[in-house]
Amino acid sequence: MEKLIEDEMFTEDETFTEDETGSFYSHLSEGCRLCQEGAKMVLFVTGLCPKSCFYCPLSDGRRGKDLVFANERSVKNDDDLLKEAELMNALGTGITGGEPLLKIERVLHYIRMLKASFGKEHHIHLYTSLAPDRQILEKLADADLDEIRLHPPQECWKDLKNSPYAGTLKNAKELGIEAGIEIPALEGAEKVAAFAEEMDVFLNLNELEFSDNNSRALLKNGFCLESDMSNAAAGSCKFANIAFQACRKVHFCSSTYKDAVQLRKRFQRIAKNTSRGFDEITEDGTLVYGIIEGGNQELAKETLQSMEIPAELFEIKAGKIEIAWWVLEELREGIKEKLEPSGSRLVIIERYPFEDGLVVELIPL
Ligand code: SF4
Repeated sequence: MEKLIEDEMFTEDETFTEDETGSFYSHLSEGCRLCQEGAKMVLFVTGLCPKSCFYCPLSDGRRGKDLVFANERSVKNDDDLLKEAELMNALGTGITGGEPLLKIERVLHYIRMLKASFGKEHHIHLYTSLAPDRQILEKLADADLDEIRLHPPQECWKDLKNSPYAGTLKNAKELGIEAGIEIPALEGAEKVAAFAEEMDVFLNLNELEFSDNNSRALLKNGFCLESDMSNAAAGSCKFANIAFQACRKVHFCSSTYKDAVQLRKRFQRIAKNTSRGFDEITEDGTLVYGIIEGGNQELAKETLQSMEIPAELFEIKAGKIEIAWWVLEELREGIKEKLEPSGSRLVIIERYPFEDGLVVELIPL
């Protein structure tokens, strides 16, 4: 669980909290707090981006393509977006890309729509690698954006004070938008930390991660995997530790944290909303249930009815019956002989908690 770290490199009145996944922080923005609860929807507004960061994790399916996704759902219209937010009972949204501000009208539309649908308290934060001017920030503030996170490219880190990012942070704060910087934990992060301290904004450091698309570039830049069990780049955490000495409001988000906690909590929220009475929700937020599929479905239905299985313990679908796994296991011996000759298959399935969610495990009975 969480523990407080005491380290001589930190000043006396600063407290740092670390969790079991290696994340640590002295400050959490509201956007991060909701993300930790798994309550933030990730809204990818475009894959277009004018930058070419060597660590860019975007997949081929998204990079350079003007597509919209809400979490993993492809968004073709506003309803798709609202459906996804409802499905996970989202308390907020993180707008990302690509470069979201290349599609500023789209961003403004989504912010207004989400606020109108879920209330002013639906917290929205936006990432950008650009340094938007006052006019654009005014539009964002007017739409009610809560938080902005700037992602200046690494070549600017040495002299951020004299870059346009300084003006953006100052203006954002004046307009009432919580402002911060979000970068991967790389060499030079301590300079960004000193700048964040001077501007009195928060700094989020993400552990550098290997993905299918950036692994060559990461290796070329001298990084290697931390272990066989993780996608984290060895040494990234070290840069975060150094940066922590220069800024009071810092949050280091580990690669394990994103997979182990954020995703699990988001799945749990979705599972609570989508599960039927007979589905078992696992600790990972996946669903487990039994299936009688194929063969003579009419016979399968009659068999369950003749055994007086309560209707709330199964659901009849096209070509299959989904049923509480423990009921199916108990009935296995009794119904196998009857149903199998017609070609029916009995299985227990574990899958992600949404329509056509990824199958984690399939156990034939
Ligand atoms: S700014 Fe973001 S999306 Fe654009 S290249 Fe860099 S990491 Fe990729």
